Amino acid sequence: MLEETNHHVVPTANFTDKIVCVTGGSRGIGRAIIKAFDALGATCGIIYRSDDASAERILTELEGTNHRLFKADVSDPDQAAKVIDDLIQAFGKIDIFVNNAGIGSHHPIDEMSYTDWQAHFKKIMAINFQAGANLSHQVSQHMIAKKSGYIINVTSRGAFRGEPLQPAYGASKAAMNSLTQSLAYALAPHNIFVGAVAPGFVETDMAKERLEGPRGDGIRSQSPMNRVAKPEEVAQAVVLMASSPIWMTGGIFDVNGASYFRT
Ligand code: NAP
Repeated sequence: MLEETNHHVVPTANFTDKIVCVTGGSRGIGRAIIKAFDALGATCGIIYRSDDASAERILTELEGTNHRLFKADVSDPDQAAKVIDDLIQAFGKIDIFVNNAGIGSHHPIDEMSYTDWQAHFKKIMAINFQAGANLSHQVSQHMIAKKSGYIINVTSRGAFRGEPLQPAYGASKAAMNSLTQSLAYALAPHNIFVGAVAPGFVETDMAKERLEGPRGDGIRSQSPMNRVAKPEEVAQAVVLMASSPIWMTGGIFDVNGASYFRT
């Protein structure tokens, strides 16, 4: 269905019978994704690691009353498996699963000892990549059984452009894009959509220090709109992807304000 707004024609989908689960759903982009799906009538599972106050706060901001919080460190394979079991037990199914939780870390190669270099890679890959791979395995078992589902990964422009100051971060996001395409192919026969949304800089806690620091103006000027994304804009892209036909599976949406064009 298409609906006219002021200047745009936007697709609207009905999510009222949908269960949407988002890792890192308590803050930043994940919080905006939860709020967007809540506004469209979905019931949400909000997965977070440790910040109870932010998690409790989002529940008070939502219109729906059946949303639930799930506290788990998804970089731990056992906790990742358990949280999927807990979600299924709570809701009976998962229609849309968003691998959004992630962290960054500053570790330029010319400033790192070999030990520190390895520690950064180990930590970043565990959260930004391995967690997504493990959660995708576990959630897809349920989606295969019901022959439907959407898995959407929040990756990054850095996967394409490179991240010289955060090389493990860039590598983890490139790995998630590759996983997206591998799983899109593998799960298409089961009617499961797998896609990714790749933002540039977004106004969240993760980027706050850089956006407010001396590099801030330079970062904003990367886009001809001279700003970075609002979390709500990334959330809108995720909703759009979750409304996409299965034929668009394997797609990676660039959400970077024309700041970088990949070929
Ligand atoms: P954020 O504001 O720092 O929020 C991170 C969220 O992830 C929090 O809810 C946090 O929970 C959760 N989380 C972190 N580690 C976790 C773990 N091990 N297990 C479970 N939950 C965990 O981050 P954001 O900026 O919204 O980023 C969200 C995603 O977008 C990330 O994948 C990031 O790489 C990507 N992204 C961000 C930007 C940007 O400029 N912000 C640009 C491109 C891509 P707690 O608060 O409880 O720890």
